[in-house]
Formats: sequence, C-alpha cells, structure tokens
Amino acid sequence: KAAPLGSSVIPIVNKLQDIFAQLGSQSSIELPQVAVVGSQSSGKSSVLEALVGRDFLPRGNDICTRRPLVLQLLQTKSKASGGSDDEWGEFLHLPNNRIYDFAEIRREIEAETNRLVGENKGVSDKQIRLKIFSPNVLDITLVDLPGITKVPVGDQPTDIEARIRTMILSYIKQPSCLILAVTPANSDLANSDALQIAGNADPDGHRTIGVITKLDIMDRGTDARNLLLGKVVPLRLGYVGVVNRCQEDILLNRSVKEALSAEEKFFRSRPAYHGLTDRLGIPQLAKKLNQILVQHIKVLLPDLKSRISNALVATAKEHQSYGEITESTAGQGALLLNFLSKYCEAYSSLLEGKSEEMSTS
Ligand code: GDP
Ligand code: MG
Repeated sequence: KAAPLGSSVIPIVNKLQDIFAQLGSQSSIELPQVAVVGSQSSGKSSVLEALVGRDFLPRGNDICTRRPLVLQLLQTKSKASGGSDDEWGEFLHLPNNRIYDFAEIRREIEAETNRLVGENKGVSDKQIRLKIFSPNVLDITLVDLPGITKVPVGDQPTDIEARIRTMILSYIKQPSCLILAVTPANSDLANSDALQIAGNADPDGHRTIGVITKLDIMDRGTDARNLLLGKVVPLRLGYVGVVNRCQEDILLNRSVKEALSAEEKFFRSRPAYHGLTDRLGIPQLAKKLNQILVQHIKVLLPDLKSRISNALVATAKEHQSYGEITESTAGQGALLLNFLSKYCEAYSSLLEGKSEEMSTS
C-alpha cells in the first residue's frame, strides 16, 4: 500500500472535516491544487503517479499527456472503519461507471484523449476529469499537464509552444495552486522550462517546489548535488531529487512499489548524495508537500474558527426562535407546528440544493 502523499496529513484533515461536517456543507477545508509543469518527457506524469502510489497515467518518451488531466483524489472509508478497501476511478465523461482496474483507467485516458484530439499528437486545453476513490488518499486535486514543446509535430499547430504555455499558466497562476516544477537532471537547470514558467506564475517562489528527475541517467562523472542544494538556481522551497521508472521498467510492468525501493537503493549507493536525505526520493517529496499542506491548513484555521463561532451564535438564535417550553396544550401545539414548518423549509431547500448539485456535476 504505497500511498505516501498525505499519509501524515490525513488524520489531521479527517478530524477537522468531521468537526466541520457537523456545521453543514459550506464549511469544509479546501486543499490547494497541485500541478506539475515542465518540458515534455521530463517525468511529470511519472512523479504524479509515484505520489499517488498507483499506475494509471500514460507515460512515455513521446507526447503522452495531451490534455490536462484533473485528478481528484477522494478518500473513502477503509475496511477498518466500516467501509471497504476498494480503490476505483470514475471519469466525468463516463458517469456512474466505477473502474477498478487501473490499467483500464490508463487506456480510457488515452482513448478519451484520442476522441477529442485524434491520434496524431494533437493537444487540447479541454480537461479530462477523473476521480480516484481510495481509503489511502487525501482529498486533494492533482493536475497533470502537457509538457512544453518547441517544434510542432504531427497534427500540432505552428504555435504549439505558445498554446501549451498559455494552458499551463491558466492553472499555475492561481494563487492557491502548488507547482511542482519538474526538470530532468540530464538537462541544464538554467535552461529549465519548468523553472522559467513557474517563475512567471510565482515570482516569489512561495508555492513552487523544484523536482529533479532522472538522476540515474546523468552524464557519467556528474551528479546533481549542487542542483539539489540550490547552488545553481536557488528556490525558496528547495528541490527534491527523484528516480522514476525508465521506459524499460514501464515495458516490463515494474510496479510503483518496486520503483520506490529501487530509488532508495540508488541513493544509498551513491556517495555524492550522502547527507542529502531530506532532499531525495518520492517519499521526501510527499513529506514536503504534506508540510506545505499543513501550513496551508494553519492559515485557514482562524477563518474556520470564526465560522464555528458564527454557527454557534446562529444555532442559539434558532433555538430561541422556537419559543419557550409551555405547559398548555395550545402552547405545545404551536411549538410543534413551528418545528414542523421549519423542518419542511429546511427539507425543501435541501432538495433544491441537491438538484442543483446534480445538474452541475
Ligand atoms: P512527462 O512527459 O513529463 O509526463 O514524462 P513521463 O512521466 O511520461 O516520462 C517520460 C519518459 O521518461 C518515460 O519513458 C519515463 O519512463 C522516463 N522517465 C521519467 N522519469 C525518469 C527517471 O527518473 N529516470 C529514468 N531513467 N527515466 C525516467
Ligand atoms: Mg505526461
């Protein structure tokens, strides 16, 4: 059960959600979105997959991600707490269709990409929306984006680079979006598309984490130590170096779990990376994200607190509005009528709320 993302925040968020559920649906903790940016084949989809801990994204050494994939992770009750340990996906374009086979989820992402933009490398900003239900995830939204490319291929228009940049910016310029800026270690950090576009959207670097991929295939005799230490391009939130699966691993169906232990072994065996453990590996990246999420929740707390006190005041007022308990039958009858009409009002507004929700989802 490799689901490192959120493992330390889940209990905190769950407790808070439990408290706020009692205050009604308007009070909930909205976690920021996390988007991956970088050039094509830098390893963006691989990083997201490793963070989720399941294999389901199209990956490869060609353009694979050709539409934004908005991946909404939704936590379900585990078997231990009265639910089930099942994990499944549901696409917005295939409502009420639970897909339990994650390889099928990947095939459907590919098929749905092709339905809109054809098989010949076309790109579109029209989202694919996928919900993943699992007891092992945190309620968070991850966005997998097409990579930046320079030269049009296949059916791509001549202005493909500008189009993709505009698409990426529309996600990462939102102040609540966390940016994973992915750069492969075998390219020059000073030339990084990821850092360049992230710097555009987040000039202060408050919400950009640098991710260096492909540490395993750097030029022999070089290492990424200085990159990871921020000595080449400084970044406020710093860098994490990772080793994802290579194309051969993908063809051989190596699992996320195997990949994580291979990654760990890689770092252990390279003296150049000793002493950098807090900047190495997918689990560290997950930890870093968690810390930022906890920070984010802390910022939200004062507002949530004032919402609780407001709700308390409103409840006390409502309580008063029902009138005093009386001894007389007529008085009790009036009180009961009062209760009933309030109940009917609440019930009908609930129904209206429901039907609205259904029509927009
Ligand atoms: P994206 O286009 O940025 O989403 O990149 P993908 O995740 O699709 O990866 C592109 C290719 O690079 C795939 O063939 C991956 O197997 C490979 N790849 C990604 N990360 C690594 C890594 O850390 N090491 C190695 N050797 N290959 C990687
Ligand atoms: Mg991709």
